[in-house]
Amino acid sequence: MASQNGGTKQFNHTLSKDWMDSPRFENKYIDGVNNFLEFAFVKGKPVGKEIQCPCAKCGNTYWRERDAVYEHLICYGFVEGYKRWTNHGESVIPTVVDTDMDDRGGLDDLCFLF
Ligand SMILES: [Zn+2]
Repeated sequence: MASQNGGTKQFNHTLSKDWMDSPRFENKYIDGVNNFLEFAFVKGKPVGKEIQCPCAKCGNTYWRERDAVYEHLICYGFVEGYKRWTNHGESVIPTVVDTDMDDRGGLDDLCFLF
């Protein structure tokens, strides 16, 4: 009885997004973009060979092929605040609590209260 686990990509663990804040010339960012594309084409709903381009210029409005999206994300970066890839197959409901803000431990966290 062979199981069918062979070709399944492992996206179940936490999708780290901290690379999105890295400079776009860094390997970390470029790897992340590749990861994103992989995710979008496996988990999302590409139409033909195109996905919505989440770059700062297209803002998920235009559909592009993988290579074009890749270039846009390297050249322009992601549209601001697109940390949950809801247009590309990621659940809208947060499954992971982002604990980033604990790191600073400063009072500036209080600013959002007003
Ligand atoms: Zn674009």
